[in-house]
Amino acid sequence: MSRLPLTPPARTSTGAKLRAVQADITRLQVDAIVNAANSSLLGGGGVDGAIHRAAGPELLAECRRLGGCRVGEAKLTAGYRLPAKFVVHTVGPVWRGGTQGESEQLASCYRHALQVAVDKGVRSVAFPSISTGVYGYPVELAAAVAVNTVRSALQAFGALEEVVFCCFSATDLAVYQELLHCEPS
Ligand code: ADP
Repeated sequence: MSRLPLTPPARTSTGAKLRAVQADITRLQVDAIVNAANSSLLGGGGVDGAIHRAAGPELLAECRRLGGCRVGEAKLTAGYRLPAKFVVHTVGPVWRGGTQGESEQLASCYRHALQVAVDKGVRSVAFPSISTGVYGYPVELAAAVAVNTVRSALQAFGALEEVVFCCFSATDLAVYQELLHCEPS
């Protein structure tokens, strides 16, 4: 189970709760978890590997039928053996110094992931810190894109009740908590 947040969740103007936790995303009891996948959707390391291991081989079988996914887009599968009913697979940008459209591509991941989740009736969703592992996106910059994009997108997704930013490390958690408890920028 996830560690309880030390501070109360932030709320958006739609009433949705936004919170950051330090946890293994495969353990979270939410309707959908987001996978930071690669464009093949055939599994990889990091959070992608952890999700495939926890969900079981049926996840890979479903992913094989999806025909991959472009950077900034998102595709939904079942969650199989995960506590989450669905997995939303999105492909973040590789960090190339910040001048190659990375922030727009990363924002697109968050928007599309929320869209495909809401289209399935999802009310709670957890994101990992997309692109900040092997793809090298600096976490402070990526977290700002994540929090700002989710905050604005929630206006359009009134049915969403909770968005969790699932951080693997305590340092990442501190970055997200700082952003969540500041005024929207
Ligand atoms: P990317 O290729 O998009 O950079 P990674 O999986 O390498 O994806 O890393 C993305 C983030 O996911 C990193 O912050 C990493 O620490 C984190 N992460 C790795 N495993 C897990 C897990 N089981 N639960 C939550 N976050 C995880």
